[in-house]
Amino acid sequence: MVEQKTIALIAHDGKKPEMVGFVKDHIERLRTAKLVATGTTGSYIRKTGLEVELKLSGPKGGDAQIAALAAEGRVDAIIFFRDPLGKHAHEPDIQMLMRVCDVYNVPLATNPATGELILKGLLYEQNR
Ligand code: PGA
Repeated sequence: MVEQKTIALIAHDGKKPEMVGFVKDHIERLRTAKLVATGTTGSYIRKTGLEVELKLSGPKGGDAQIAALAAEGRVDAIIFFRDPLGKHAHEPDIQMLMRVCDVYNVPLATNPATGELILKGLLYEQNR
């Protein structure tokens, strides 16, 4: 049996509609994974009917919690739609999350095109 993959999903406010669209476009594939998300992003994703473990909201430490999962080897990929036009109080956490992904070689997508490639690569076996 193929081991279930864990995918973390995060979207800044300006990118939440794009994240919901992305999740809907890939809902069957995502159903095969364990999903974890920052608080507000996760509550939007739940509305699609998918089960998601919610962490804290990003600005309240959710990005840091997901970075900790990456550092502990407990997440297989992170899909993080950042808002490149916004300013964020938790910018240090965002940078830290991306740094941790590079330290531990955890796949990190910051846009839907890369996110799709990651899902195809990671969840391919379960979807043949
Ligand atoms: P949120 O956090 O899903 O709780 O909005 C995302 C973020 O801003 O990092």
